[in-house]
Amino acid sequence: MSHTSPASTDLQSPRGLDGLGSTFADAVPELALPWTAAEAPTPRLLALNETLAGDLGLDPAELRTDAGLGLLVGTRLPAGAKPVAQGYAGHQFGGFAPRLGDGRALLLGELHDRHGRRRDLHLKGSGRTPWARGGDGLAAVGPMLREYVVSEALHHLGVPTTRALAVTATGAMVRREVPLPGAVLARVASSHLRVGSFQYARALDQASDQQPDEPGGDVARRLADHAIARHYPELASIGSDDERYLAFYRSVVSAQAALVARWMLVGFVHGVMNTDNVTISGETIDYGPCAFLDVFDPTAVFSSIDEGGRYAFGNQPPITEWNLARLAEALLPLLHEQQEQAVELAVEALGGFREQYAEAWSTGMRAKLGITHVDAEVGDALVDDLFGLIRGQADYTSYFRALGRAARGNLSDARDRVLDVAGFDAWATRWSSLQPDADAMDRVNPIYIARNHLVEEALTDATAGDLTAFERLNDALARPFDERAGFERYAEPAPDSFGPYTTYCGT
Ligand code: AMP
Ligand code: MG
Repeated sequence: MSHTSPASTDLQSPRGLDGLGSTFADAVPELALPWTAAEAPTPRLLALNETLAGDLGLDPAELRTDAGLGLLVGTRLPAGAKPVAQGYAGHQFGGFAPRLGDGRALLLGELHDRHGRRRDLHLKGSGRTPWARGGDGLAAVGPMLREYVVSEALHHLGVPTTRALAVTATGAMVRREVPLPGAVLARVASSHLRVGSFQYARALDQASDQQPDEPGGDVARRLADHAIARHYPELASIGSDDERYLAFYRSVVSAQAALVARWMLVGFVHGVMNTDNVTISGETIDYGPCAFLDVFDPTAVFSSIDEGGRYAFGNQPPITEWNLARLAEALLPLLHEQQEQAVELAVEALGGFREQYAEAWSTGMRAKLGITHVDAEVGDALVDDLFGLIRGQADYTSYFRALGRAARGNLSDARDRVLDVAGFDAWATRWSSLQPDADAMDRVNPIYIARNHLVEEALTDATAGDLTAFERLNDALARPFDERAGFERYAEPAPDSFGPYTTYCGT
C-alpha cells in the first residue's frame, strides 16, 4: 500500500485541541495502527454542529478556517496528535470476519468535553488504511450527511449515540455506481470500543497462547481495563478480577438492553447490527442502511443486503442478545479460569438481558400511552392489542400523536387510521378508563423524526450542491417533540408515491 502524505502538525489548529489524548492507543497498541489521512484537494464545510463544537470547547469560527478544515479532514493535526486506525473483528450477518478494522476511518485522538467527559474525535472517509481490504477508503457526501442527520436526530430523541461534528466535502470524486462527490465525517463518541474489538483482542490472545513467543496474551484484559476506566469506572474498585470483569459484562448487557429498547420505542431500524457495530458504551454507532419505520411492521427491513431479514425491526432485541453472547465468548478467560464455570457465569449474566429489555420497553410504552401510573401487566396487554390494530396499517410515529389527541377527547383521527374500527373502539374504551395524560404523551412521542423520504430528498439535493433541505430537516429534528408552524410537512408520513424504501451500506 502506498499511502504516505504525512499529516502536517500545525500550531494554529483550533484551541481546545492541543493535547489530544491517546489512552486507547497507549492501553492496547495491538489494536491501534498509526496512520494518516489522505489529502483532500479542496475541503469545503457542508455541515458543522456548532452546539456540539461548543460542548467540546471548540470554537466554531476556528473550525471554519483553513486550519479547522484541515483538522476536520485529518490533514492538519495539532502537535502531538497520534491518529490511529482501530483494529477489530466482527460477526457480519452471522459469519465471523477475523480482520475488519477501520478501513476508511481514523481515530484522531481523545478530548474532554465541557463536562469533563473523555470523547473520541474520529473521521470516516479519510482514505484507505491497512484494514481497507478491497475498499477505496472513501465516503460519499450523501451517506456522510445521512449519518449526520440521523445520528443527531437520535440524539435529540434522547437515544444514546455517537454525535456528528461536521461533514466536509473533500473536492475529490468517489467511484460508486456513478461518480459521487466525496466527504469526510467528523464524529464524536464516548469511545469506539465495540464487541468486535474484544473479539479481535481474544483472537490475538489465542494466537499467542499457541505460540508463546508471540507478544501479547493479555490484550483482552488490557482492553477490558481500558473499557472499565472509560465507561464503567465505578467497577474499577472491585477487588477480585473475575468479579470485576463479570460486572463489566453485566454493565454492557444493561447498556445494550436499554439502547435497543430506545430504538424500538422510536421505531428505529439500525440495519446492520454486526458485532463490529455494537458499542461497549451502549451508544448507537454506524449509520449505514438505517431507517425509521413508516407503517408499523415488525418485519420491516430497509437494507438492500439484508435479504434474510436478520436485522428486521422486530428482530433487533434478539439480535442484540445474540451479539452480547459473542461478547461473552470473547471475555470468557477473564470471567473464570475454568472454562465451564466461565460459561456458566456468562450465561447467567446474559440471562438478565430479556428482563431488562422487557422492563425498559414496557416502561417506555406506558409513557407513550400516557399511563405510567398503570401496572406493567395492564400496560403490556394494551400495547399488544394496539399493535395488533395498527400493524401494517398506521404510520408508527404519527399514530402516537393521534393518540395524544384521542386522550384529549378527539378520537376520530386515531380511529380513522385503522380498519378494525370496532376493535379500536373497544381498545380506546379500556385505555381511556385509565385516564391517559395527554401532555405527558406529547413530551415523549416525537412529531418530527428523520423520515426516509425527507432524508432522501435532503441528500439528493445536497449531493447536487443545495443544502437548503438538509439544513431545514436538521432544524425540524433538533426539537422533535415541539409542534411548530412551518414544519407541517415534516410531520407527514411518506407519500404513497415514495414506496418501498431501500438503503445501501458501505457506500
Ligand atoms: P460497516 O459495516 O459499514 O461498519 O463496515 C464494515 C467494514 O468495512 C469496516 O471494517 C469498514 O472499515 C469497512 N469499509 C466499509 N466501507 C469501506 C470503504 N469504502 N473502504 C474501506 N473500508 C471500508
Ligand atoms: Mg462499522
